[in-house]
Amino acid sequence: MRILVIEDEKRMAAFIQRGLKEQHYAVDVANSGDEGLFLAETNTYDLIVLDIMLPGVDGFAVCRKLRQSGNNVPILMLTARDDVRDRIFGLDSGADDYLTKPFAFGEFLARVRVLLRRRQHENTTLLKVADLELDQIHRTVSRAGKPIELTPTEYALLEYLMLHAGRIVTRTMISEHVWNQDFDSFSNVINVYINYLRKKVDADFPVKLIHSIRGVGYIIKAEAQ
Ligand code: CA
Repeated sequence: MRILVIEDEKRMAAFIQRGLKEQHYAVDVANSGDEGLFLAETNTYDLIVLDIMLPGVDGFAVCRKLRQSGNNVPILMLTARDDVRDRIFGLDSGADDYLTKPFAFGEFLARVRVLLRRRQHENTTLLKVADLELDQIHRTVSRAGKPIELTPTEYALLEYLMLHAGRIVTRTMISEHVWNQDFDSFSNVINVYINYLRKKVDADFPVKLIHSIRGVGYIIKAEAQ
């Protein structure tokens, strides 16, 4: 899942970025409304965290411009004070949810998960493919009840595949949703990580779940299906 954080206060932006990365999200940061709009129009995000008080184009305007251009990415607004008018104006600008600063990071993450789930049209936080299970709350993975240890990138890649279980995921989709801006799409890093996942998820089991679709991408499904 790839998230854009639009926040001009550098320390706050770094704090949010670090916390989200720890949860295995791919994160880009914009320090102004203009930069945020540019990134949101250039890349494909699963969620935008948007501060209201920004120099130049403020958060309300960013939100309205995105909606006017047809971008329906979930937006979580951050308001500096608990002002009901700000919240109403924010929601009316097209934000999906808001949070007042300072906030408890646990609540922030819970709201992020809610908005991402809504996007997936899923109400479950436990993804399953055959006997492979991924718990999106605790960020744990197991197969046939046996825990599997994954690095943050391996987890993010497996989560993305499992969210699209039974459907082909292209290399472009993976590069857009699992990695942040620093990703070099011409490298073979996706293959490398797919191989890491195969070793951990499939190697010890007769039924293989991760399949390559030559020249296109990958699909996760039980072979028998
Ligand atoms: Ca600000």
